[in-house]
Amino acid sequence: MLGWFFRLICLALLGLGFFHLAFREAPELGLRPDILAANLSGRGQPEIRVLAADALERAVLTINGRVAISAIGMDMRQHSGDFSQSVSVEVTPTGQGVKLGSDRYVRVRLKSLDQQPLRLSWKKSDQSEASLNLPHEIEIHGTHIESGGRKLPRLRILARLPIEEYLYGVVAGEIFSSWPLEAIRAQAVAARSYAYFEMRSRADDEYDVHADVRSQVWRPSPVVEPQVRRAVDSTAGVVLTEKNALIKTFFHSECGGFTADARWFFTKTPLLALSGVSCPRCSAAKNRPTPWRATYTRQEVAAKLRQAGLLRQPGEIRVLQGLDYRGNPMGRRLGRVVSLELTLVGDRGGQVRVPANDFRLAMGPDRQNIASTYMAIEGGDEARITFSGYGWGHGVGLCQYGAAYAADKLGYNFLDILALYFPGAKPVRLWGSDAGFR
Ligand SMILES: [Zn+2]
Repeated sequence: MLGWFFRLICLALLGLGFFHLAFREAPELGLRPDILAANLSGRGQPEIRVLAADALERAVLTINGRVAISAIGMDMRQHSGDFSQSVSVEVTPTGQGVKLGSDRYVRVRLKSLDQQPLRLSWKKSDQSEASLNLPHEIEIHGTHIESGGRKLPRLRILARLPIEEYLYGVVAGEIFSSWPLEAIRAQAVAARSYAYFEMRSRADDEYDVHADVRSQVWRPSPVVEPQVRRAVDSTAGVVLTEKNALIKTFFHSECGGFTADARWFFTKTPLLALSGVSCPRCSAAKNRPTPWRATYTRQEVAAKLRQAGLLRQPGEIRVLQGLDYRGNPMGRRLGRVVSLELTLVGDRGGQVRVPANDFRLAMGPDRQNIASTYMAIEGGDEARITFSGYGWGHGVGLCQYGAAYAADKLGYNFLDILALYFPGAKPVRLWGSDAGFR
């Protein structure tokens, strides 16, 4: 459908190296913040690449309004132009790239010229419809998945947008906009530091962040809540550092009483800011820590772990116990579990160790399943295993309910809140104006 369009309009090449990223820095971390600031001054905020959808068999792209299209053809020549009309076009993977309508390209980039979202819809594996309203600029790449020793062609959709605009969608996706402004501002700084850390670490990858809990939940919307906009805009460019290096500022919903050391789950380098703190505030906000309980059959546990690639050995789970109960004031049977040990019976049997946060996510990343790493493992019986615990999330970094309580009941501002959960961390503004920092 777009073929005629390209044949008519693809006269002028932009000559700008369209797929050259507008903002790329060396991936190494640890630059002095003042040098970082100097590097960025005059260049404005960086642009982030979000993996919006992946491994799609086909998709339908709906465009309303004026759109600029740039694509690399199979002959490696660049085609570009813009048009103004409403159109729905089928997008399919080819193995070497993508097909838009009947035209084949290595990759395609589209940019809305009048700020209209680009709509992408597709069928999920259970045949239900899924769709996304993506902001102004997307890239469509070919990729593949491995299945039964074969490579199957698939589509990968990236959204590209200024980091501050991305943060509107993250803050909206990660915290209630009705919460106190200072808690939302603390969340905005944590989300920005996390995102910028990923951008600098993954500059050589095809994208910087996932759009879901694998990075941070991103819910783009053309309408930004005023409270969210205020929190992001008033902290624009502010990130957290320790010893002049960026901090990957993890956050979670409710710690249940104490936050976890990032080294237990995510990092190798010891950082004071990510070493864990006691947090009576989330429990105070809810009168007591939120308890959870989840029971599975032993077969269910084994099946979910195999599906997540955490268990490759055959056999049934006989014993499942927590190892390394950390930070627990109440004895050995309840605390932050760092890893779990499974004892298998069967042909080969043996012991398998699984990181606790991976285990939690494999069982299902919601409150009906294993809600946190702050848990006890009750043996159950021959057929079932029961887990119970407190809080929600991995427990590292900012505790959102604790932050809300600190803002609402203790009168803390966002810098006070960040100092509670990231002890010793220094806030630094890397772009944006200085107005409203305090
Ligand atoms: Zn807490």
